[in-house]
Amino acid sequence: MTARFKDKVVIVTGAGSGIGRASARAFAREGATVVAAGVRPQSVEETARLVGADGGTADAVVADVTRPEDMARLVRTTVERHGGLHVAHNNAGVFGRPTPVADLDLSVWRSVLDVNLNGVLIGMQQEIAHMRAHGGGVIVNTASNIGFHGRRPGMAAYAASKAAVSTLTRVAALDHIKDNVRINAVSPGATDTGMSLRPGETDADRAARLATTVPIARVATTDEIVAAVLWLASDESSFVVGHDLVVDGGVTS
Ligand code: NAP
Repeated sequence: MTARFKDKVVIVTGAGSGIGRASARAFAREGATVVAAGVRPQSVEETARLVGADGGTADAVVADVTRPEDMARLVRTTVERHGGLHVAHNNAGVFGRPTPVADLDLSVWRSVLDVNLNGVLIGMQQEIAHMRAHGGGVIVNTASNIGFHGRRPGMAAYAASKAAVSTLTRVAALDHIKDNVRINAVSPGATDTGMSLRPGETDADRAARLATTVPIARVATTDEIVAAVLWLASDESSFVVGHDLVVDGGVTS
């Protein structure tokens, strides 16, 4: 086992399932102390338990990324309990029900943007405030390859929010590289999680449905996405600033 994150403290949002849970486990396997954050206590506590069962160290904190007071508390609690904050993976996201633009309820549009875009901004504001006062840090945001194309009918809110995360990442990276805070994003393609599961569909059905849209003819494992997140969070990518790394099996190639 490599230990690229030995002595590092890492926050992962949306850590109660899917890519976030895999990220928390992967950072911990590589030596980090992980704070798994999310809205459902039982989900983030289960992630912390799994990290512990893997032999790692993790803590669970309930925090809603849309609430600045929650994200401030998350950073404060992390620093108080673990002595610092070196890496943040802003990963929480929601998909929303597919709806054509003309029929899209504004409240749905706003709620998707609130989590996917505002949540990343709010998280970064709290994380950067700590990092720049303590010598720097690294941030990786989860965007999506859907932000790069329009070929998911009915997904305007999701696609627009993720395109905005990509651009927000680039601007934030340039705003804060002088503070020694290095910021990048990963844009996954279809990944083996419960996101975008249709009513009555099993995980296997979803994977088979999405695989037909991917040149490599399958969906990604969460570990394939997390490998990119950890690389961007590590010193191996020390000259990579404001990049959005697409990991999508060729969809946007
Ligand atoms: P997921 O399992 O549904 O994970 C999303 C996580 O975000 C959940 O744990 C969810 O918690 C959490 N979350 C939602 N709203 C939140 C809020 N307001 N505050 C804090 N946490 C919140 O799906 P996933 O695939 O792992 O998604 C992770 C990220 O990857 C998302 O940003 C998603 O857009 C992105 N992504 C996924 C795919 C894919 O195919 N899976 C492709 C491209 C990008 P609850 O479950 O408790 O609500």
